[in-house]
Amino acid sequence: MSQAPIPSASAAAGTHPLPSYLQADKLGPWGNYLQQVDRVIPHLGSLGRWAETLKRPKRILVVDVPINMDDGTIAHFEGYRVQHNVSRGPGKGGVRFHQDVTLSEVMALSAWMSIKNAAVNVPFGGAKGGIRVDPKTVSQGELERITRRYTSEIGIIIGPTKDIPAPDVNTNEQVMAWMMDTYSMNTGSTSTGVVTGKPVDLGGSLGRRDATGRGVFTVGVEAARHIDLDISTSRVAVQGFGNVGGVAGRLFHETGARIVAVQDHGGTIYREAGLDVPALIRHVAETGSVGGFPNAEVIANELFWEVDCDIMIPAALEEQINAANAGRIKARMIIEGANGPTTPEADDILQERNVLVLPDVIANAGGVTVSYFEWVQDFSSFFWDEAEINARLVRIMKEAFAGVWQVAQDHKVTLRTATFIVACKRILHTRQLRGLYP
Ligand code: GLU
Repeated sequence: MSQAPIPSASAAAGTHPLPSYLQADKLGPWGNYLQQVDRVIPHLGSLGRWAETLKRPKRILVVDVPINMDDGTIAHFEGYRVQHNVSRGPGKGGVRFHQDVTLSEVMALSAWMSIKNAAVNVPFGGAKGGIRVDPKTVSQGELERITRRYTSEIGIIIGPTKDIPAPDVNTNEQVMAWMMDTYSMNTGSTSTGVVTGKPVDLGGSLGRRDATGRGVFTVGVEAARHIDLDISTSRVAVQGFGNVGGVAGRLFHETGARIVAVQDHGGTIYREAGLDVPALIRHVAETGSVGGFPNAEVIANELFWEVDCDIMIPAALEEQINAANAGRIKARMIIEGANGPTTPEADDILQERNVLVLPDVIANAGGVTVSYFEWVQDFSSFFWDEAEINARLVRIMKEAFAGVWQVAQDHKVTLRTATFIVACKRILHTRQLRGLYP
């Protein structure tokens, strides 16, 4: 039987107007994501008839998170879990605690997870969660109650074969342990596979903590070879010095590269001869930021973007590299440790200026790759050693990056569009194989 054609994206939007929360004003992360999708559609061939699916998250859950505060009052927090696409497997992606988290931001982050998971070919769809809370303003007990109530509220859509959360900005192994315990209590089971990024003693994986930074470093080394950039003599500037930027900074430092500038919420520090990275990692662990680090010059935050460097690693939040600063960046290569750090306008400026951008959807995929290993280990209750995990991680990242590089050459597009081509084809191919139900 012949199938009725699926209307094109614009026709579909015309006959069936998008829900209000999808009508992005082209500003913000969701708007940026939609522009990235528009850039890939001309390269999708016949799979393009399914492309509209990429512009609509499959499932959005907004939850109220009420908790008893230490002072006897009751506070309400807003929580989200968005499953963008589950064609290739269960939803997968982190949970972010941040005072500025919004639904449309979480939608974008969930969509980038779909692209990322398909780009490295792990059998997951894309999902993301968030709670509007500044964790610095609540006690440890309050944080635990927020986490547990949120987990309970999203419990109706998460699960080891449904959607598997993980750490993201301001969440960590302890938060994952509470989530695993809450879900397990509610289901009367020991469900280690419901979240990844857990403590190693609770079904976590060796190597998970460093995995995102290790992946950033791995693709950086691969890309540098293509542009004749010698990593061991390079100068690196890093924004965000937590689990991603700190680890990537350490690995670059260990090759002999100089980490000349680091910026975080505590300010921007600079040292032309290179910062003492192990000491800086200890300082951030003890004080919470790079502020007050001895033996470095403090420079204005704006000047970070003009620092003389070869490699820049944005490893903090979205939209940091935008039309206002992209023209001032001196680096030859940008490795996106963060999700969504570069706006589409900035992408165009950087391309024009011949700055190579290694996009988030491949560059920071190391975290979720080891999350995949963790999930597999949890299912089999058989755990691998760290050398094996790191070797598998590096192999997957190198192979995925080589494939994306080739597609970029073949289609004469940026690495971002090339990664989207690889990933969207995989997603839409499975979409087509599964077909529409009913
Ligand atoms: N939050 C990380 C990311 O943005 C990891 C997600 C995961 O491991 O599921 O890729």
